[in-house]
Amino acid sequence: MVEILDGKKLRDEILAELKLKIDMLDKKPSLCVILVGENPASKIYVNNKKKTAEKLGIKSVMINYPKSVTENELLEKIKELNNDVNINAILVQLPLPAHINCQNIISAISPIKDVDGFTPENLGKLFSGQTPYVYPCTPKGMLLLLDKYNIELDGKHVVIVGRSNIVGKPAAQMMLNRNATVTICHSHTKNLADITKTADVLISAVGEKLIEDNMLKPNCVVVDVGIFKDNSGKTRGDVEFDTVSRIASYISPVPGGVGPMTIASLMINTFELFMIQNKRSSGI
Ligand code: NAP
Repeated sequence: MVEILDGKKLRDEILAELKLKIDMLDKKPSLCVILVGENPASKIYVNNKKKTAEKLGIKSVMINYPKSVTENELLEKIKELNNDVNINAILVQLPLPAHINCQNIISAISPIKDVDGFTPENLGKLFSGQTPYVYPCTPKGMLLLLDKYNIELDGKHVVIVGRSNIVGKPAAQMMLNRNATVTICHSHTKNLADITKTADVLISAVGEKLIEDNMLKPNCVVVDVGIFKDNSGKTRGDVEFDTVSRIASYISPVPGGVGPMTIASLMINTFELFMIQNKRSSGI
């Protein structure tokens, strides 16, 4: 019988614990989110982040720019936020409009305020075996979820479908750090099913209907990161949930799996950056 990796339940537990810690602080952590343009999905994500932060007592600052904003204007704002002692964490909601070089923007964020863990310094530390200030939120959330259900990764074959800088690549490194054997697949991978069938743990981060039961081995663990709207407007993941549930040992649902864990990780990261910055400035 398949067990559901319940991201909502774990998120609620994590946030309740985090709230107690934040309640005890005199000064509260702060998170600044920059949103460019009117992308409806981005607006929903940003609002969820704001609401969650506020419930925890994290100060949230929202900065909205029209789609026409220039790269220089954004860079100037980030410079200002880097120097603002009242801001502990900076997040630039992706994607950005095509005329803005996303990498330039991310690289401009001070690594100690980089709440997503996407700056070259933080990712470089992750990939070179050092400890970044914080780990990228989605892979971090995934690991928290797998740990909650005592899913062992040491020596397991983890197959990750998707190689983005924000999910697939950092997830691969974080799984390697847990002594998993990792295979990364992408849109040029030949015979995808032959590879996914060898997975003890399958992570799919693509954004389209892709993973079916005949691509998996019995009793594998399935983590579905993908989110998209199907033709009827329903939110769904990459994995064919009903059929895959019949053969997997664990599966994360969409919605309710990795998504809530990403938000929980974002809140933890904001708190962690606040603590690092305050220890630093108070010389502890
Ligand atoms: P992305 O940058 O678009 O990357 C998608 C990856 O999927 C790429 O590496 C692409 O390969 C690969 N791919 C596309 N079609 C494929 C196919 N037919 N077979 C195998 N691989 C294929 O996306 P992302 O930002 O990583 O996000 C992936 C999905 O996760 C999206 O649905 C996104 O909404 C969701 N997401 C969810 C959360 C959450 O909190 N739950 C967080 C982040 C993202 P190439 O590299 O060759 O193009």
